[in-house]
Amino acid sequence: MPPRPRTRKARIARKRARRVAAADNDLTPSQWETLVALWGACAYCGGPGPFQKDCVLPISRGGRYTRDNVVPACRSCNASKCNAEVTGWMRRKKLDERAFLQGHAEILLHLRERRDDDGAPTAGAGAPSS
Ligand SMILES: [Zn+2]
Repeated sequence: MPPRPRTRKARIARKRARRVAAADNDLTPSQWETLVALWGACAYCGGPGPFQKDCVLPISRGGRYTRDNVVPACRSCNASKCNAEVTGWMRRKKLDERAFLQGHAEILLHLRERRDDDGAPTAGAGAPSS
């Protein structure tokens, strides 16, 4: 039986749209505010805002819009990084990769410790999938 690319493509596109829509809801506005407050600057270059949500592991590489994977990035870093793998990109840009990884680890630790007053799961959200 010959393949039916149109159908398959549509199915993949639908699947992706659903995944992106679902992933989009994972980071709450309050979590984002907390991330911005904790970083206090662009996570990559330390520059000033306004900040955009950047996935450390890009969605295209299996990352998700979650508190653990999103960092505030200035417009310039966000545009430049795009779908690049973060450490390779930082090296190419001669950015302080170690400072970023350390800062990211510390902030995640901090967030996990105070999970009770911020990341409380909302009812109905976060049903396990796949
Ligand atoms: Zn930046």
